[in-house]
Amino acid sequence: MAPPVQDVFELRGIRKAFSDEVAVDCVDLSIASGATTVLIGPSGCGKSTLLRLLLGLVAPTSGSVTFEGSPVDPTDALAQRRRMGYVIQGGGLFPHLSAEGNVTLLARHLGWDADRLAARIAEVCDLARLERGLLGRFPLQLSGGQRQRVALARALFLDPGVLLLDEPLGALDPIVRSDLQDELRATFDDLGKTVVLVTHDMGEAAFFADRIVLMKDGRVVQEGTFDELDGAPADPFVTRFIGAQRSHVVR
Ligand code: ADP
Ligand code: MG
Repeated sequence: MAPPVQDVFELRGIRKAFSDEVAVDCVDLSIASGATTVLIGPSGCGKSTLLRLLLGLVAPTSGSVTFEGSPVDPTDALAQRRRMGYVIQGGGLFPHLSAEGNVTLLARHLGWDADRLAARIAEVCDLARLERGLLGRFPLQLSGGQRQRVALARALFLDPGVLLLDEPLGALDPIVRSDLQDELRATFDDLGKTVVLVTHDMGEAAFFADRIVLMKDGRVVQEGTFDELDGAPADPFVTRFIGAQRSHVVR
């Protein structure tokens, strides 16, 4: 008998408003363990806000978020957050820290000694395909693709069970992007982690996702595999969204 699929995150009746701007509304969602879930939709539809709700970086206006069965409490989420690796939209590297300084930031904060840091640096550089020779450089001295690898290495450093990636390949040129897509998927497959990845590109979603969650105006329009969305669209918007990007979908 197959083991029951466990859900890492559960969102129930989630609404998030910033003053009178509703970013996320009426969202009920379960994020399965060990799978890759892709959040997709047009710019401004609430993808980043939803990811930040999972991380406990913002509190819902109403509704509940649980992580591995415990409520996510943004006023006391530090211990939970250390079990999640986060790649911020745009990379979010600290410009005044070297690549190594960025990658090791959390672990140094936790008081790791030099030997333990060095051993883990070697491991995450392998995982993120980051050349060790780049570790002394500052973010401005790195290419876009190299910065993405540093951001990924930083997210992986504490070996979190969950990786949350906000448009990790957003600003890269097509060839670098395509190479990094292949490498990232290989990394996800190697690690067997729970991944939640945000993109606005349906080709990328189809490439990565076990499950796609398509959003519009803060709500989930449909969730399922790419073939389910393509073959049985729940709403004309699904057809329009896939159709507008069809030329990009390569699997
Ligand atoms: P996406 O990542 O899909 O582009 P976001 O989650 O960033 O969308 O934003 C959803 C909506 O919420 C947008 O209208 C945005 O302007 C608004 N929003 C997001 N964060 C804030 C904030 N901190 N304060 C006010 N409005 C916000
Ligand atoms: Mg965003």
